[in-house]
Amino acid sequence: MKPITKEEFKNKIELNLRRQYGKSLEDAKKYEIYYAVSRAVMDEVTEKWYNTKKTYQKSGEKQAYYLSAEFLMGRYMGNNIINLGYQKVVKETLEELGFNLNDIEDAEMDKGLGNGGLGRLAACFLDSLATLGLPGHGYGLRYKYGMFEQKIEDGFQVEYPDNWTKNGTPWEIKRLDRSYEVKFGGRVEIHKDEIGKEYYKRVETENVIATAYDVPIIGYGNGTVNTLRLWEATSESGFSLKLFNEQRYEKASEKGVEAEDISRVLYPNDTERSGKWLRLKQQYFFTSASLQDIIRRYKSVYGNNFDKFASKIAIQLNDTHPVVAIPELMRIFLDYEKLSWDEAWSICTEVFAYTNHTILSEALEKWDITLIQPLLPRIYQIIEEINRRFILELREKYPNNYEKINKLSVIGDGKVKMAWLAIVGSHAVNGVARLHTEILKNEELKDWYELYPEKFQNKTNGITQRRWLLEANPKLSDYITSLIGDKWITNLEELKKLEKFEDDLEVRNNLMKIKKENKERLAKYILETTGIEVDTNSIFDVQVKRLHEYKRQLLNILHIMDLYNKLKENPLLDIESRTFIFAAKAAPGYRRAKSIIKLINSIAEVINNDESINGKIKVIFLENYRVSLAEIIFPAADISEQISTAGKEASGTGNMKFMVNGAMTVGTLDGANIEIVEEAGEENAFIFGLKANEVKKLVEYGKYNPFEEYHVVDGLNKVLEQLVDGTYDDNRTGMFKDLYNSLLYGVDGNRPDVYFVLKDFASYRDAQLKVTKAYRNKDKWSHMMLKNIANAGKFSSDRTIQEYADEIWNIKKIAVKNYID
Ligand SMILES: *Cc1c(COP(=O)(O)O)cnc(C)c1O
Repeated sequence: MKPITKEEFKNKIELNLRRQYGKSLEDAKKYEIYYAVSRAVMDEVTEKWYNTKKTYQKSGEKQAYYLSAEFLMGRYMGNNIINLGYQKVVKETLEELGFNLNDIEDAEMDKGLGNGGLGRLAACFLDSLATLGLPGHGYGLRYKYGMFEQKIEDGFQVEYPDNWTKNGTPWEIKRLDRSYEVKFGGRVEIHKDEIGKEYYKRVETENVIATAYDVPIIGYGNGTVNTLRLWEATSESGFSLKLFNEQRYEKASEKGVEAEDISRVLYPNDTERSGKWLRLKQQYFFTSASLQDIIRRYKSVYGNNFDKFASKIAIQLNDTHPVVAIPELMRIFLDYEKLSWDEAWSICTEVFAYTNHTILSEALEKWDITLIQPLLPRIYQIIEEINRRFILELREKYPNNYEKINKLSVIGDGKVKMAWLAIVGSHAVNGVARLHTEILKNEELKDWYELYPEKFQNKTNGITQRRWLLEANPKLSDYITSLIGDKWITNLEELKKLEKFEDDLEVRNNLMKIKKENKERLAKYILETTGIEVDTNSIFDVQVKRLHEYKRQLLNILHIMDLYNKLKENPLLDIESRTFIFAAKAAPGYRRAKSIIKLINSIAEVINNDESINGKIKVIFLENYRVSLAEIIFPAADISEQISTAGKEASGTGNMKFMVNGAMTVGTLDGANIEIVEEAGEENAFIFGLKANEVKKLVEYGKYNPFEEYHVVDGLNKVLEQLVDGTYDDNRTGMFKDLYNSLLYGVDGNRPDVYFVLKDFASYRDAQLKVTKAYRNKDKWSHMMLKNIANAGKFSSDRTIQEYADEIWNIKKIAVKNYID
């Protein structure tokens, strides 16, 4: 296919503007231009998409499907035109028309169909699959409202709905030809077929229609366009015309509303998994539709013979959210395709693999039988049968060890344990960083590891450099390319070649210069959104991620309070200027997380308005953290705050985005930080605090007393008392008092300082002193920066995905052929 010319492109934009809005270029609004540009590019995409689908079909090769309740995709346009190689032509065409590409991109709403790391990982994986030319696709939910929009009002988080479709959605195609029925409730009846064989049938069910919306996932420079298929829920009957005609309007649309509820809104809980009825409905809805779709596609080639199913299809379960897919596939095989239990089960366990994302106990999904049984009666029967057979296996293996058998039982205490079901029903179980996988094997899932050692694997997370370096940081990207060529875009290990410039002062000065320019870009954004001016010569010290106690934003802000106290006591204190930057959403029901947001903002208010400190420190809280904001933040960071309680952060991926953009890690030895430091060298990071095994021991001994830190660590008692003496204002909510109590006394039956904030305080402050010292030595700093960038190669999601492809899915690269004319 010929690449599109500027002239053709211009005509297409105009055509789309006329068609969609009846407007010409002169009177079009920004988002209208965005829409028209996107549609023009989609015209080109659809041909590549068609070729990819045909190529996959004809190849007969195995396909992988990534089932995830969350895809945090961010914006599509910028990324898509880069991956297509259209950036130059789009940019120049727009310039000739008097528009700026960046401005037009800003008109696009983020696709925030995820909470944080887990959903963003899914998005990075799709990008890597397509770029590696691998036949791998996503399946998820098309939430009408994604992650809420956060505003900060009086220092408090306030949530607003995220109506991301309101200005149109040019990057998806509604597929009326791909819709399925998903059945809830009702009863199970036993029927007999022609030859007298019994089978199960669901009757008196409530049926919901799943309709597909397809999003193209465009590989970088290779013609591959894979598919992200998201399901929307609607009612079968829409609404009752009869009731409507009887003027019973609300009743008339009730069924429709109830069905549409299923894909109405993303649950905004990052880690805590409340066992809500609607959430279970969402999970079953999207997994059932996805499996029906996968089976339809398989049968169109192989008919009713399922012998090849497991060698043609791999399904990855992203956390426990889609694990109900295991009994659902069993149901379809048993009740519909009439396979025997043993045949069906053997296929299932070969097809499924499960990724564990966390060891926080509140995150492990368990469904009450009283919920799952009435909602999914046949699925519950199948889970019971899976468990019955599993227990028989255990009895043989561990005769008379009832304690162990009880512990491993998928059903217990009136609940179905989804993680257990996932392990029993999968051939591979993986953690997301080396430490995390080791903790799973030796602690959290120890019994399971003993039972199925062959199932356990590690797949350290990664991020796509196309979005997080090439798109987010064009200046650094161009500079790297000028030094080592552009192969790093598809092989991040190439960055290692930067090491030959480690003693080249000019190169290192240029890196510093680019960092400064990116800080200016962020400073401009800060000024526009908060009205606060920040000094771009100061250290940009950044902590951006979901707000959670284990991530310890509280440790960061307590340190800032202490630094401010020191500066007040001694205005001549010799410190480097710092701009502390936070961004974080808290789950709406997570009160303590919201208290920490309020605390950060109250302290920011005081510090930013205190003229006596001459602007030496500033504290910025940027509202509504999301992918498109992250893309401005990471390139501008000097310091990456990765300060979770050791053993609690499974991997982290923000840490990787910082590294590849040349920020230094201040961190604990937790999650992927360990591997980051291993690659970059410990001398090029600022490591502090308890190690995972030390945290474990402290918990086991149960002797930790935070008052020891309170009395011994200089300045700490003052900081803590300032939480309750009125120095900072929590608008009489008692929020700061609760933080104080949780640190020193323990609240709601918890031990004090569950996350060892005070225990790590002194060590953290030491690490921050080292930061100041290092930053003053520009020679040292720029060297550290270069070392971090040069050694970030391991953290490409291309590496992660290649490992999944080789070690779990067994899929191969397929070169896309041309099937048009
Ligand atoms: C990368 C990313 C995350 C994950 O950050 P962590 O620091 O790994 O928790 C969350 N949200 C957004 C928008 C991201 O881009």
